[in-house]
Amino acid sequence: MNLNIKYYVNQAEMVDAVTLPPNEDVNEWIALHVHVFTEIIKQMFLQVQQQCTCTHMTIQNIVYANEPAYDYISKQIEEIQKYLTDENIFPQQAGVPFSKSFLPVARTIFFKQLRVFGHFFLHDNQLQNQYLLPQHFKHFVLFTREYELLQMTDFDCLQSVIQTIM
Ligand SMILES: [Zn+2]
Repeated sequence: MNLNIKYYVNQAEMVDAVTLPPNEDVNEWIALHVHVFTEIIKQMFLQVQQQCTCTHMTIQNIVYANEPAYDYISKQIEEIQKYLTDENIFPQQAGVPFSKSFLPVARTIFFKQLRVFGHFFLHDNQLQNQYLLPQHFKHFVLFTREYELLQMTDFDCLQSVIQTIM
């Protein structure tokens, strides 16, 4: 799969980028974005490795896990990887139909990605300059909204951030 990670300079370009291209299967489109955002998160994680010394997995003042954020995120990425290599959920060949489990699993993955983005955004600010985090996060928010992949309430603890980037 050719993962083209693009940077969108303006809102219009980004809104365009989330629109389903003509003749594209919507599940195929969502699967592609699961891969793209996973790749972005993995690259950010590599960059933040030495710097994320947060003793708990937090977003704002909400504690999601009583373990270092680094360990938590590392496990989330492993779990996402496991899903991505499961051919019953992510068919490796074009034209193979997606199973009924695809959308629920995709939603689970987007939810994990949201937490990772949220933590990086709020607690590991060096990423903001190094890795265009606001642009990627904005793309993520637009995409998951467009295809209703997350609940509005999932974004609750990130409202202030979203207001600054949207
Ligand atoms: Zn951190």
